[in-house]
Amino acid sequence: MDWLEKLSLLSQETGLELDEESSGWREASPACYTARTFGVASRLLDHISYVTLRGGQKIPVLKVLLTSACEYDCAYCPFRAGRDFRRATFEPEELARAFLQIYQAGLVKGLFLSSGVTGGGVRTQDRLIATAEILRHRLGFQGYLHLKLMPGAEAAQVERAVALASRVSINLEMPATYLQQLAPRKAPGSVLLQPLRQAYQAAQNLQSGPGHRRVSLSTQFVVGIGETDAELLRTTAYLYKQLGLSRVYYSAFHPIAQTPLEDHSPENPVRALRLYQASFLLRDYGFAFEELPLGSDGRLDLAVDPKTAWAQRYINHPLEVNRASREELLRIPGIGPKSALAIIRARRLTRLRDLRQLRQLGVNVNRAAPYLLLDGRHPEQQLTFIF
Ligand code: SF4
Repeated sequence: MDWLEKLSLLSQETGLELDEESSGWREASPACYTARTFGVASRLLDHISYVTLRGGQKIPVLKVLLTSACEYDCAYCPFRAGRDFRRATFEPEELARAFLQIYQAGLVKGLFLSSGVTGGGVRTQDRLIATAEILRHRLGFQGYLHLKLMPGAEAAQVERAVALASRVSINLEMPATYLQQLAPRKAPGSVLLQPLRQAYQAAQNLQSGPGHRRVSLSTQFVVGIGETDAELLRTTAYLYKQLGLSRVYYSAFHPIAQTPLEDHSPENPVRALRLYQASFLLRDYGFAFEELPLGSDGRLDLAVDPKTAWAQRYINHPLEVNRASREELLRIPGIGPKSALAIIRARRLTRLRDLRQLRQLGVNVNRAAPYLLLDGRHPEQQLTFIF
């Protein structure tokens, strides 16, 4: 099997999460060739995802497994031991060199590297680190690198992974009670949570060290195997506040043939969307877990986004835009951190009197208008001359 065929097998159904990142590694320009001159470009394009770096730059990233073999039998996973499908494995050197070809062809600017577990989490982590070492130190790759931490990774390995990566992550998967049933080898707290705590400490040390390099942390939950939104969001609040995670991902469960959950219903993707929206309220909008608009069943309303649900429940009087604090503005649907800041800056220079001004400042005025006063007037009074 050549490296391209392996890549094809190892980049499918990876379920790897991707989004905003920060990288202390230089974003080098990779171009020796163009994608057009790279003969296998079209075969690789399906395996390229995009990451948005801190600051807004979006870069293409290859997401790939070092091996799709796995000795664990997590009930929800396509790679679980014993499932019959064609597996493949890269050696660290082989994957590092294959990636470098793609990088030098200008097809990607970064790598998201994970793996099935073979020979234990510690041995597998060694192989991931070996791949990263080859890339960074022998092949001179300086771009974006997301490294997975394996279950049970040792403290020294976590520290090394943090030193090599732009982002590290370990999937916490689901609340412990469900983990016990569906992925029992991952259930003890020391297997998943401990490496995440160690990664947080290593990232803190790196940031306060001489280079002040920032490495971000993330995790992922499988959503839809019986847990409530309250369980997930309480943990999410802890992860943002106590372990400084950049992002918590929610992957809506979909059943995989030849797994114990093949007859389990797929999760509605809207639920994952609502969880993301609620998690951003925790991370970026100053909401505490206790303030989230959860129903008595511990679930968010699927029909309305959680910020609007909160506003409908708790905002009884419109807010004067010209006097509101940043914290108050952030509670208004349609106003985000950027537009709140823009409002505060703009009103130092002028009074805000109509929705057109707010729109120019980045506010979603259709969502925000019901909750605002502009210079003492309700915006609805102005609709006729604005639109
Ligand atoms: S350890 Fe990872 S790859 Fe292996 S079965 Fe569990 S989720 Fe899948």
